Amino acid sequence: MQISDREHIMLAPEYLQYINHSCNPNVFFDTTNMVVTALRNIEIGEELTFFYPSIEWSMDRGFSCLCHSENCLGNIQGAAHLPPDVLKKYKFSDYIKQKLGI
Ligand SMILES: [Zn+2]
Repeated sequence: MQISDREHIMLAPEYLQYINHSCNPNVFFDTTNMVVTALRNIEIGEELTFFYPSIEWSMDRGFSCLCHSENCLGNIQGAAHLPPDVLKKYKFSDYIKQKLGI
């Protein structure tokens, strides 16, 4: 997880490292307060997902998203590559907000 232009952090406990991306995420990683928060009600057994661009500015290797949500963005490359109308729909870390100037 990116916390500055030159720093990434590893998550602990380790299972947090396996949370996948979704364009319709149910959790948010607050890298300022180091907490994971729910973005909506999460059903028992539902996979936890977060929005990679919420903590990544520009990824070295983007990927084609297969989340199958209605609002799937397709190619995910980081917040720097998202149009303004998409940016309005998501919550971002303080670092990404600073990069976006919001
Ligand atoms: Zn998607």
